[in-house]
Amino acid sequence: MSERITIKQIPLEELVITPGSACQGCGAALAARLAFKALGPNTIRHSIPACPDNVTRTPTSGGEFEAGGDHVTGTWRALKALGREDVQVVGFYGDGGVYDIGFQSISGAAIRNENVFIICKNNEAYMNTGGQVSGATPQLAMTTTTPVGPMSRGKPNSRKNTPMIFAMHGVPYVATASVAFPTDLIAKIQYGKGIKGFKFLDILSPCPTGWRFEPNKTIEVARLAVQTGFWPLYEIIDGRKFRLTYKPRELKPVAEYLKLQGRFRHLTEEEIKEIQRDITDYWERLLKLDEIGEILL
Ligand code: SF4
Repeated sequence: MSERITIKQIPLEELVITPGSACQGCGAALAARLAFKALGPNTIRHSIPACPDNVTRTPTSGGEFEAGGDHVTGTWRALKALGREDVQVVGFYGDGGVYDIGFQSISGAAIRNENVFIICKNNEAYMNTGGQVSGATPQLAMTTTTPVGPMSRGKPNSRKNTPMIFAMHGVPYVATASVAFPTDLIAKIQYGKGIKGFKFLDILSPCPTGWRFEPNKTIEVARLAVQTGFWPLYEIIDGRKFRLTYKPRELKPVAEYLKLQGRFRHLTEEEIKEIQRDITDYWERLLKLDEIGEILL
């Protein structure tokens, strides 16, 4: 499992391009900043269409949306043939490329247990093409393809639990992270980069443009996602050992998180109560897993 670090232990070296191609307050740009501090310069980054795209100074290559898992596999195997197993091979992809279009190739890499690190900068939509619904979009969120009107209340179904799906591949390491908890995020990458085999980190990366909040609220939104249980922080080893890495005595009401964002502005009090029920139920199940330290399947 990852080990706690302090703010002073966060590496100082900056590997991101400033200002890059991100909007003000972009959570995904911050995810890149933190993740690549932890990965270090001895890293090759793969990208597929995502938003923002130009984010790091590391050697980088791009590919097709659906082939992220294949690209990182090829790079890792070529490096291995050259005797350069010291290099971190990282797929830094958006949720569209991980949860949906690219899932099959990344799942293949997970099944083969390729020695790669897949990091999802999860802004819960296809922001590179203007904010369409993705498998990571939460239920009832408004996107450009799930508009709110007489026939629709936003996304009709719940988000896909992709971290758990990858954990069920039995891979060495799966974790969730948030840009508002930088030491937790960095500790998880530092732990993962020391493991040989497939690693997956899903970073919730608030998007002021798509989620409709002021750019200076990014950290507040990201923190509330975790404090309300909307985005629990945990890690899973070998698809089995489970640990919550943030466990408040009591969760804050999810309404505090939802009401900051324009994409949920249409929700009724009853809809918010339904979301709260789902979150409380899931959080209680995670607490049980944390108590026994294992996923029993
Ligand atoms: S649209 Fe969202 S994800 Fe894309 S750069 Fe702007 S804030 Fe970041």
